[in-house]
Amino acid sequence: MSFSDPTLLGLREQRELLARGALSSVELVQAQLRRIDAATELNAFVHVAADAALAAAAAADAARAAGDARPLLGLPLAHKDVFVTRDMPATAGSKMLAGYMSPFDATIVRRLADAGAISVGKTNMDEFAMGSSNENSAWGPVANPWDRTTVPGGSSGGSAAAVAARLVPAATGSDTGGSIRQPAAMCGITGIKPTYGLCSRFGMIAFASSLDQAGVMARSAWDCALLLQDMAGHDAQDSTSVAQPVPRYTDALDALPAQRPLEGLRIGLPREWFADGLADEVAHAVRGALAELERLGATLLDIALPRTELAIPAYYIVAPAEASSNLSRYDGVRYGHRAAAYADLAEMYAATRAEGFGAEVKRRILIGTYVLSHGYYDAYYLQAQKIRRLIADDFAAAFAGCDLIAGPVSPTVAWARGAKADPLANYLADIYTLPGSLAGLPGLSTPAGLGRDSGLPVGLQLLAPHFGEARLLGAAHALQCATDWHRLVPPTL
Ligand code: GLN
Repeated sequence: MSFSDPTLLGLREQRELLARGALSSVELVQAQLRRIDAATELNAFVHVAADAALAAAAAADAARAAGDARPLLGLPLAHKDVFVTRDMPATAGSKMLAGYMSPFDATIVRRLADAGAISVGKTNMDEFAMGSSNENSAWGPVANPWDRTTVPGGSSGGSAAAVAARLVPAATGSDTGGSIRQPAAMCGITGIKPTYGLCSRFGMIAFASSLDQAGVMARSAWDCALLLQDMAGHDAQDSTSVAQPVPRYTDALDALPAQRPLEGLRIGLPREWFADGLADEVAHAVRGALAELERLGATLLDIALPRTELAIPAYYIVAPAEASSNLSRYDGVRYGHRAAAYADLAEMYAATRAEGFGAEVKRRILIGTYVLSHGYYDAYYLQAQKIRRLIADDFAAAFAGCDLIAGPVSPTVAWARGAKADPLANYLADIYTLPGSLAGLPGLSTPAGLGRDSGLPVGLQLLAPHFGEARLLGAAHALQCATDWHRLVPPTL
């Protein structure tokens, strides 16, 4: 294996070199920082902690020499700026939180650090994770390394671009309605959104609390498994985190048989997801990946998710409703931005929020406040909650007859920056990711090659029943052992 440029390697290979003493963590972190420096035009990072990362790398090397064998010791990664960090600002892509320093680390940030990982910085994102193109960041849009005139997807667009451009081997993300899976698909990397409740939300700046879930973006399913097994698990500080043991996912992947690893696995294909609105080149690439899964032993079945088209209206009521409540804390009093000039308290609130929030965030606060208001609550919010339950019921019925569900992540490949000026056009592109989010299911995007017309990455989405992460990662790992799509490198690199 060549390691002249360790940034081209994934976590697994970097880890092996570190363990063998063929590479030091300081060398590795220096190499990643050089790449980050050379890629500022991607705008993937909002904060780079070069000195702290190098100091942590030196400490990791010393610890290894003294016998420390923590699973992630000395490995670099980046955190989406939605996670609060004691040593770095956390802004959630918003002017409202410019320069905000948290007094504590998010649980997942702390757990990854405890396992030995080194955080090199914070990645750009749509403001408060609202968006699907990373054009809603107060710190400017992120470019997709595959074609810098296109969007990287969102809202974890900075993490996706950083991993795709080899600025870091892996990064954290958050997914409320697709924000890990969709940018992973558009940047040609692997991203997993775990079951709601698997990873602690403590210290994850809230968007829609009943949907928000932390996850991982990396260049392979195995690398995602490596990080997920140490960041997941019960946290007494998040009452929705589930108290059950977390399997060692990497052991499950390593135990898959080499021959026909997916023998007996039944994969359902929702007929509603392969219908109108799906770009031909996406359908073609997804079908190609499905044929590979079949070759690996899986059986493909036709299934129905009849409430699919209700996912968009239901999500775009529930998520803004929760957002309007969560974002009421940004009032200029407790923390964050405060307007400089105001006559009284009411004017201070209004001026602070008018200055601090961007247009999409304001739009959602207005929608959310409306659907929760007396007189409209029953017609919109309550109705959306009922639809959410029906969508979850559709999945439960489907999973009675299959082990995984597969389909596209996004109806199209990455679009040109500025092409979707109408917010509704963005919302409609979430059609395949929102249903799984509303049902709290784990979902993953794995590369399925390049679109034959655009030459841009296409993702295959896999969904599993609750807490089916091992099965989900196993199927993606088997696919990645048999194909090279996850090894494709952006031409600009
Ligand atoms: N695109 C969706 C939205 O704008 C999902 C965002 C997310 O998952 N954070 O709400």
